[in-house]
Amino acid sequence: MAKQDYYQVLGLARGATPEEIKKAYRKLALQYHPDRNPGNKEAEEKFKEAAEAYEVLGDQAKRTRYDQYGHEGIKGTDFRPFTDVNDIFSTFSDIFGGGLGGSIFDDMFGTQGRTRTRGSAGSAGSDLKIRLKLPLEEIASGIEKKLKIKKWKRCDVCGGTGARSTGSMTACTVCNGSGEIRQVSRSVFGQFVNIATCQNCGGEGKVIKEPCQTCHGDGRVQGDATIKVQIPAGVSEGNYIPLRGEGNVGKRGGPAGDIIVVMEEEPHPVFTRNGDDVILDLVVSFSEAAIGGDIEVPTLTGRARLKIDPGTQSGRILRMRDKGIPHLNSFGRGDQLVRVNVWVPTSLSPREKQALKEMGESENFHPKDGDRSANSEKSFFGRMKKTTS
Ligand SMILES: [Zn+2]
Ligand SMILES: [Zn+2]
Repeated sequence: MAKQDYYQVLGLARGATPEEIKKAYRKLALQYHPDRNPGNKEAEEKFKEAAEAYEVLGDQAKRTRYDQYGHEGIKGTDFRPFTDVNDIFSTFSDIFGGGLGGSIFDDMFGTQGRTRTRGSAGSAGSDLKIRLKLPLEEIASGIEKKLKIKKWKRCDVCGGTGARSTGSMTACTVCNGSGEIRQVSRSVFGQFVNIATCQNCGGEGKVIKEPCQTCHGDGRVQGDATIKVQIPAGVSEGNYIPLRGEGNVGKRGGPAGDIIVVMEEEPHPVFTRNGDDVILDLVVSFSEAAIGGDIEVPTLTGRARLKIDPGTQSGRILRMRDKGIPHLNSFGRGDQLVRVNVWVPTSLSPREKQALKEMGESENFHPKDGDRSANSEKSFFGRMKKTTS
């Protein structure tokens, strides 16, 4: 699937200033905003596309990588294409006006869609961020995790109202239950209506005379919860999965926040990850390298056979196709790269020494010109670059 150039998406030239990028994105976001295009799939796609382009070009570090390496360059950073429109709102809150209550769109289109419910409900609960350590094997296979967490849950005794009984809840006398205070002022320019949140009831329109004894009027209590999260194969450090409405519940029936599960990659004792490839350092004996053979090596999915050609040099990279990590957003998977290290014996019997001495005199045991520098680290990284691009 070919991706469109991010500059093209925003209709900009490569040298655009950060201000121009922000402006271009705002314009597109307004044009394709879901509130303005209800049910229009194409607009939603364009909205996501623009957000993705802005996530990269609006960030100096990601933009530099993108300019140098294109779409490949931002893989493996904390970049993740948007799948949920709501992620776009929370990620670019500076563009969308910030804060949970209002955004520039609310002002322009009226309050539709995703604004939090007002009125009798209490304030919204907070999000919970959970870091999840994953070994490479689980990243390669994908896994369902059960996480035990502590969070604010609805108080079952009062049903989240915070009141001891239904009778101990009364309408706020200051705002008459509306939660808002209206003040009308007149001036030479005309009449102004100023609406403020009622301080007496905090905007809830109700006050509790006798609070619930379990939650002391909060409508929520601390408790344990077990949540399930499906981790797709191929995630990287810094990727996150949002679980909507699974976070802390708000006070007195307020809506729950989210849980954000952030991936962390555990260092592996044997493998090193390089994008979706894994690198294995393999130590072979001198005779295996010289004569060649079929040897067993570990992979992320169990042991596998690897063919060593006769005359394999130390530092050589052997590629085991499709033994790496699955690509997160496309089909296929990376490879396992096996770096051969020839082991040199450290103690020899007199007989072995004698035999090696004799063989060492043979022409075949001497490196030819040109073989001398073949095993340097430089050539390893040179080859690595070739294999990963
Ligand atoms: Zn309670
Ligand atoms: Zn009130």
